[in-house]
Amino acid sequence: MQRNSGKTASWEIYSNLKARTPLVARADGRGFKKILECRKKPYDMDFARSMIDATVKIFEDSGLTPSLAFTFSDEISLIFLEAPFSGRVEKIDSVIAGLLSGALSMALGRVVSMDCRVVSVCRAEIVEYLVDRQDETWRNHVFSYGFYMLLKDGLTNTQAMDQLRNMREFEIHELVFRKGVNLAKTPAWERRGMLVYRTGGELVQNWDLPLFKSEEGQRLIDQLIVGN
Ligand SMILES: [Mg+2]
Repeated sequence: MQRNSGKTASWEIYSNLKARTPLVARADGRGFKKILECRKKPYDMDFARSMIDATVKIFEDSGLTPSLAFTFSDEISLIFLEAPFSGRVEKIDSVIAGLLSGALSMALGRVVSMDCRVVSVCRAEIVEYLVDRQDETWRNHVFSYGFYMLLKDGLTNTQAMDQLRNMREFEIHELVFRKGVNLAKTPAWERRGMLVYRTGGELVQNWDLPLFKSEEGQRLIDQLIVGN
């Protein structure tokens, strides 16, 4: 590709920031609340499948080689042990946001966009990072069930938000349980998110994850990181 060597080249805002590895590229949906308005609540399996399809495309069609990808809600974290684009942050952010926006738009059949940021971690922090995102998956899960149950009871969005803000996690758990849903027994992908990774030359979608903070979870992550 030809570099712009004309006068306007000096007007380009380009920081040339570089990230060390390992690194996480985390993409997040823009304005997905509205996009998902007419979907099944609080969880829509078809949407989750589309997120996985978009993630799979990164492994299969992008030429990039993440070691693993974790996804929940409208968020995808790609873990790289070797930096794509020599660690150039602007390039990583823009290309991955572009790839995932395109792939997800195709999967959903409508135009959507995602942003992307780089999170720099050391090897020992990869599990910690994933534990943190999985904790967020759980909080999101409890809150979403509580929220949509209150809406079903006739509360407005604001009323439901206000009520939940003043509740402890176990209280939301209780509230949802009284309405017939045990939050400990919902599908694992809703509670713990999903992973995509390669093992033995096969691309795996794991919808039934252990807790990353459990021994089994740490073992799984270790295998995927060391195996790469
Ligand atoms: Mg999000």
